[in-house]
Amino acid sequence: MNDSEQQGNNLDHWLDAYADRAQTLAVSEVRALFSVVSRPEVVSLAGGMPFVSALPQELLQQTYEGMMSKRGALAMQYGSGQGDPVLRDQIRDLMALEGITSSIEDIVITTGSQHGLDLLSGLFLDLGDVVLAEGPSYVGALGIFNHYEAHVEHVYTDDAGISPEALSEAIDRMKAQGRKIKFLYLVTNFANPSGVTLSAERRPQILEICRREHILVLEDNPYGLLYFDKPVPDALRSMDEEGVIYLGSFSKILVPGFRVGYVLAPPAIRDKLVLANESAILCPTSFGQMMISEYLSTADWQGQIDTFRGVYRERRDAALSAMQEYLPKLETTRPDGGFYLWVTLPEGIDSKAMLPLAVKELVAYTPGTAFYGDGTGQNKLRICYSYPTPENINVGIKRLANVINLQTELLETFSKKGS
Ligand code: PMP
Repeated sequence: MNDSEQQGNNLDHWLDAYADRAQTLAVSEVRALFSVVSRPEVVSLAGGMPFVSALPQELLQQTYEGMMSKRGALAMQYGSGQGDPVLRDQIRDLMALEGITSSIEDIVITTGSQHGLDLLSGLFLDLGDVVLAEGPSYVGALGIFNHYEAHVEHVYTDDAGISPEALSEAIDRMKAQGRKIKFLYLVTNFANPSGVTLSAERRPQILEICRREHILVLEDNPYGLLYFDKPVPDALRSMDEEGVIYLGSFSKILVPGFRVGYVLAPPAIRDKLVLANESAILCPTSFGQMMISEYLSTADWQGQIDTFRGVYRERRDAALSAMQEYLPKLETTRPDGGFYLWVTLPEGIDSKAMLPLAVKELVAYTPGTAFYGDGTGQNKLRICYSYPTPENINVGIKRLANVINLQTELLETFSKKGS
């Protein structure tokens, strides 16, 4: 028996001891793929990994040496539960790029924005509370909302982002059922998984609805600075300081390995958030924060973000032209930044059932159902183009087309026979 089998058996002994909420922790569709797609012969268009090799190693080495000589002792020590004040000040400048004015008092550093989402969910969500979210929505956030036993109500989303009309309807529907709506969760720019950006026109409309209905907005924005042609519209938080909690991250514009994200929250919520942060982790990583702070003060970080933009633009183009070449009939979003394409398959094809066939053809993607809390999205799939080379993206989409075209033919044959 190997180590993991041994561990699995031991865990079984404690099944009856788990808290009820532990049942909400199931292996996600994205996680389940990781063991397969790490095989070198598989082109993975699945996990949303940044292409960290576009960041020169020497730059990080220099940053490390500079940081250690200036703040090495602090970097090895516990720090403030709210986060390093020097870094919080630098984050103000970063957020100003999207129109946000903020005070360092209102910024809380978290262990990636994933942890920010978890802390906020812990502060706000009781069993059965409603979270409104785009349809589709980020799988990692859905996992957290599920863990806090909330109900996720997806709201119709098109190429301009979440629909204000559909949002009003969803609110009315939830209210008619006597349910408590706690917040609206949005990935406003180059969304994961759809690649869609909420239009400038809709931003104030969405805020107006939420203000009127007294619904808090969680604006999750890890991709906003990774635009290809023109900057994204100003952040929701720049238009509403009281009703919006903003989440940012260094994972996509620098590296995810430091695990540093941040939350900008109205003062009352910020105070609770600091307490929750301290209770969970005492303080965010001193080492990671100080590395990032040193990087921001000494490196050409805007130039580096430009480099990332160039890399991802080239890969987006490779993905779109491969879709056009091999799967021209399929509906696909056309992202202006970020990592993701969202593909609609012919009605009747189940992307989750198709995945083993695709892996057999040595290509992987993420099935659409991962991005809905209600089991829908069967004929959708997410392609992540951030990590493979443009050549491999082409090869991967060609393989995917073989699988999809075969499925489509089978479906047509069966439906002809049935009619
Ligand atoms: N939000 C979104 C929309 C994401 O795509 C991700 C990472 N995939 C996160 C939050 C979490 O990122 P991190 O914890 O690395 O900051």
